[in-house]
Amino acid sequence: MMGERVGKDNDCYFYYYSSCSKGEMCKFRHEPAALRNETVCLYWRSGKCRRDKCIFRHMEIAVSAPDLT
Ligand SMILES: [Zn+2]
Ligand SMILES: [Zn+2]
Repeated sequence: MMGERVGKDNDCYFYYYSSCSKGEMCKFRHEPAALRNETVCLYWRSGKCRRDKCIFRHMEIAVSAPDLT
């Protein structure tokens, strides 16, 4: 299964949208530089982002979800 990358490559939903209690133990990415950025990383999308502190989001941002309650 090449190219199946999980964990630190993907942003932590809780870190960006509320707060993540796992801190350093979290297996997802916590990147302060990307906090206020709503641009999805194109490299990440194609599975090629190797930047350590990428300022772009490593998650799909749902812009047109009408029933987010
Ligand atoms: Zn987290
Ligand atoms: Zn990236």
